[in-house]
Amino acid sequence: MDLIEQLRILRQIYRHENAYYDSEKALHLHRIPADISADELEALGQAGRMPNQMSSPGHDEIWDAMYALADTWTLSQAADAFIAGLWTAPFLWQSALTAKLLSLVTPRHAFTPYQGSADTCIICGFRKKAVDSTLLWYNRMTGGIPLDGDPTGYVFALREMAQSGLKPTPTSYDLWTFRAVLTVIRHMPPKSRYSKVRDSLHREKLLPASQKANVCSLLQI
Ligand SMILES: [Zn+2]
Repeated sequence: MDLIEQLRILRQIYRHENAYYDSEKALHLHRIPADISADELEALGQAGRMPNQMSSPGHDEIWDAMYALADTWTLSQAADAFIAGLWTAPFLWQSALTAKLLSLVTPRHAFTPYQGSADTCIICGFRKKAVDSTLLWYNRMTGGIPLDGDPTGYVFALREMAQSGLKPTPTSYDLWTFRAVLTVIRHMPPKSRYSKVRDSLHREKLLPASQKANVCSLLQI
């Protein structure tokens, strides 16, 4: 099953109306809609993209993986992958740059929860919770980068990139797109609000996506 087909089926599964909470397992999961055939599900499984592949990584495990995986990228390679991810490479590769930067600026630290919140680290934003690796992959392929306070999201993105064995480099068109994005931002009136910049970029149709969320994701970088 090719990539496009995998994403098409996952799009049907990860619709809001299929989300539910399994109180017995204490997990947020997704129901498989009845119109997805057994053959399609089997092919998805063979591709390693079955939904509801849950795990609950720990804080130190995530940061050990973050440092080790980000270390396999130079800053220049990560910047190249980010620009390639604007157009010719899947969105997933935009995450390389922010992951690298996060790994460089975040010191090693122990899990330090907020007062009154036992599950969120005040230093890095890590949350103790179960995650679905297929949903994280789907989000990276379709929706852009994780938030900067989501080290778990970055580690899963780095693992996907490592498994692919690719470090994409930008084409001349990717570089043109990057320059065009900067030009739009530069020509905004001073002190323009975030939403105005987003709307202008969306209007120019510089990215291979029709959703404003993709532009938001890019602006967060
Ligand atoms: Zn932390």
